[in-house]
Amino acid sequence: MTVKHRAAIDELVSYKPGRAPVAGRPQVKLSSNEMPFGPLPTVLDAISHAAATLNRYPDFHRVELTEALARRHDVDPSQVVVDNGSGALLQVLASVIAGPGDEILYAWRAFESYPIVTAVSGATAVAVPLDDQYAHDLPAMAAAITDRTRMVIICNPNNPTGTVVSRVELEKLLDALPDDVLVVLDEAYQDFVTDLSSPCGIDLVGERPNVAVLRTFSKAYGLAGLRVGYCVTRPETADLIRKSIVGFSVSTLAQAGALASLAPESAVELKRRIGHVVAERTRVTDELIHLGVPVVPSQANFVFMPMPDGPAMAAAFEERGVILRAYGTDGLRMTIGATEENDRFLTLAAELLRRS
Ligand code: PMP
Repeated sequence: MTVKHRAAIDELVSYKPGRAPVAGRPQVKLSSNEMPFGPLPTVLDAISHAAATLNRYPDFHRVELTEALARRHDVDPSQVVVDNGSGALLQVLASVIAGPGDEILYAWRAFESYPIVTAVSGATAVAVPLDDQYAHDLPAMAAAITDRTRMVIICNPNNPTGTVVSRVELEKLLDALPDDVLVVLDEAYQDFVTDLSSPCGIDLVGERPNVAVLRTFSKAYGLAGLRVGYCVTRPETADLIRKSIVGFSVSTLAQAGALASLAPESAVELKRRIGHVVAERTRVTDELIHLGVPVVPSQANFVFMPMPDGPAMAAAFEERGVILRAYGTDGLRMTIGATEENDRFLTLAAELLRRS
């Protein structure tokens, strides 16, 4: 027997995280857009130091971390809200902003959490297909706005396709929306962007009253297991979120680790790591093109290969020790890993995917 609940939840497809490697089998996990490097020693030190106070609750308001993020982005601390992952913040935003009868608009395919947070909020999902370049079709999204639209989510760069929106096109969409409809720019992968035509959403927060940017420590900072994300927006919107999040949701260890990774001495190594990903992204993409494998030029730490037999291909890779993420009949996504991991992927790609 199932307890009484909202019907929208029955229609949900559960989020399927990237498969974990099976213990005892030498497997390379390239399925969850994680960094291949362990935490910085200074981050580990800060976490173990903070562990001595675990008998106490964490700082409810995450003051130090919030202030450090505000300094990093040159905004006021009243504009920053930290929570246990940007996914959690998206859930709060959707539930605060929209409910039954309202619409949440996003592109599809994009991050799998969007349909989930929409259904949980009770709102109706309006999913606008990506264009033929696997990018957001912003004019089509603008055309899909109705007077019930309460929130528009733009994944920039887009997961799983790695494409970005241009600032010019985004401004047009913002112009087409009433100022009281929230636009969430999900910038989980922003640190990997090299295309200068793509906007940095935080710059837009100062110019537009209805933009909220989501960032995370899970990707470029390499701290996916720590669970820290944040939102930068207008103070009024930040207040709505702050009032609605679960108290003490960012642990003492998470606050300390994230803070240490923002310290100036972490910057050089983090930048080097991002540089590795960007260079390897180019190498992997070029090699896939050379093999005749369809691949979407990416601005994130992964590459998307459109193909109808993604699940069968992912199974074949996995049998040979490389875990990728399949997207039904849409394609296959590979996270950029360490050089040897990418080599291993490319060797198998030559065997399994070669078209030329
Ligand atoms: N947004 C996008 C586009 C993502 O791909 C992810 C994680 N895969 C998230 C948000 C969630 O990140 P976090 O770990 O901060 O919850």
